Amino acid sequence: MKRYCINFDCSEHQSRHLGSAVSGRVSKKGTFYRLCDRRYIQRFKCLVCKIQFSKATFDPDYRQHRRDINQRLFVFLGSGITQRRAAILFQTDRMTISRKLRILGVRSKVDHFEWLEETYQGKPIKRVQFDDLETSEHTKCKPISVPLAVRKDGREILDFQVKRMPAKGTLAKIARQKYGKRKDERPEGWDQLFKNLKPFLHPKAVIESDENPHYPKYVKRHLPNANHIRHKGARGASVGQGELKRQKFDPLFSLNHTCAMLRANISRLFRKTWNTTKKLENLEAHLWIYVRYHNTVLIKSDL
Ligand SMILES: [Zn+2]
Repeated sequence: MKRYCINFDCSEHQSRHLGSAVSGRVSKKGTFYRLCDRRYIQRFKCLVCKIQFSKATFDPDYRQHRRDINQRLFVFLGSGITQRRAAILFQTDRMTISRKLRILGVRSKVDHFEWLEETYQGKPIKRVQFDDLETSEHTKCKPISVPLAVRKDGREILDFQVKRMPAKGTLAKIARQKYGKRKDERPEGWDQLFKNLKPFLHPKAVIESDENPHYPKYVKRHLPNANHIRHKGARGASVGQGELKRQKFDPLFSLNHTCAMLRANISRLFRKTWNTTKKLENLEAHLWIYVRYHNTVLIKSDL
């Protein structure tokens, strides 16, 4: 593989867009020993601007320590292992795991949208189920809503959003006194969810949900020709035990089953009071990791 200069201002770097008009201006310049995976890495030097770089500069794991655990950590985080436990299992620092959670989250999100395009471009999805999964950040007084859309026939998770919402019911007053007024960000979430889904949905797709009074407005706004079916259903407990309901036939089975899988495989969704989400960004990263693992590994093994 031909190496090019990494310096954007260098004529050697610019010339790579012009084909091979200029070549051979990057030479090898020794190696260095990388401790974390015990390998010698080739170094290079640009003969035009004299800048030095190495094979590692082009690596997606550039500047990461413990790159050896990335793939296994991805699997662990999608399999109910907490960050703390992962740090113990990999004999590494909790901070390393926490940084990697973010990196793997970003990577999973990018991969997810590429996968969506590859899989559904030209093959629009005809049946989708959606609902909001509820969790909280640190305390039940600060609930979080996760609007989530699932393809009905294959149970692939298509998109989700992470949005703040005010506490409901008996907690509402206490929450306001303790933490002040909390903005309801759910409308933005529903808008964004349908915006992201629209390119992959059939214009006349069947969209199924529960009877949440907010939903029809957002379906109409983004998918005016879709057929929105609203199912009557008893709302489950806040921790999600109600997601797999005791009724004989659950019309929203694909969605409810997926929500139950999220609660069984994402450690921070296990319990109300232990290892809860502290930062919204980390919940989002963790969800992306799970979504990627769910779509590419878990549901595939069911078939
Ligand atoms: Zn250069």
